[in-house]
Amino acid sequence: AKEIVQDNPEDLEPRAPIITVMGHVDHGKTSLLDYIRKENVIAGESGGITQHIGAYGVTLDNGQKIAFLDTPGHEAFTAMRARGAQVTDLAIIVVAADDSIMPQTKEAIAHAQAAGVPIIFAINKIDKVGANPEKVKEGLAQMNLLVEDWGGKIQSHDISAKNGTGVKELLEKVLLEAELLDLKANPNKRASGTVVEAFLDKGRGYVSTILVQGGTLKVGDYVLAGKNSGKVKAMHDERGHEVKAAGPSIPVSILGLDGAPQAGDKFNVYEDEREAKQIATKRMQLQREQDVRTTKT
Ligand code: GDP
Repeated sequence: AKEIVQDNPEDLEPRAPIITVMGHVDHGKTSLLDYIRKENVIAGESGGITQHIGAYGVTLDNGQKIAFLDTPGHEAFTAMRARGAQVTDLAIIVVAADDSIMPQTKEAIAHAQAAGVPIIFAINKIDKVGANPEKVKEGLAQMNLLVEDWGGKIQSHDISAKNGTGVKELLEKVLLEAELLDLKANPNKRASGTVVEAFLDKGRGYVSTILVQGGTLKVGDYVLAGKNSGKVKAMHDERGHEVKAAGPSIPVSILGLDGAPQAGDKFNVYEDEREAKQIATKRMQLQREQDVRTTKT
């Protein structure tokens, strides 16, 4: 039987916020995500080879953590939402200070608001000659989005994703905002969460990056993700370090699934391998029937 048990309040523990970065094309989403991934800005664990696995975590000096979805742009955000996945706690919306509020900035704002996700603005490219962060803030004010400097409640910070100016402070503001959300999860149960991305790796087989949202995932657990299943053979973080267990808000790439689930698919751990296999087979059958119907019409 599937676990639909409500967590007792006393079983809940604080969890790290999960962040999506959105904004207009070329305003610096990828640069910001790359900078944060490469320089573990706050804890200062800089350098090291990092891989793109679709999500990663950073740790602060005091041990606090933040998880980032490393797929910039709201296409990924909306695709996940379309599949019913509610993953993001906060959205960083990047606006280039040498440009202004652009159509995709407005779309990103609309998507975050529709999902009820608080926004923090990163006013980027302040290293550039002619950058004018105040003009961006004025543009936001005209949309009724008042940032703190303008007497409002919305957090914003001026940054350069290129040289790192202000990024640490931006993340501190992210954590302040996250505190207000009082994010909690129960780490002491079988894991569940969402698939972030998956691909077939020559040599290693199917690699799926998943974000644990409840419980703790362990090597050896039997996972059902969308229409795919399998025993977790190994888990790694974005630095390629082996991970034995992953609790709430921890992204890991896992080896062992029999295929590539889709971004936004839910995953669950099953005690009984047979039960998980049966459900996976049923889902594949349903999909085939649906495919037959759509090709007929
Ligand atoms: P995205 O489309 O939003 O992901 O934007 P990118 O991160 O790809 O950045 C677009 C361009 O702007 C690239 O050429 C970056 O090198 C450049 N860029 C991004 N951030 C900064 C910044 O803070 N300062 C400067 N000078 N250039 C930046």
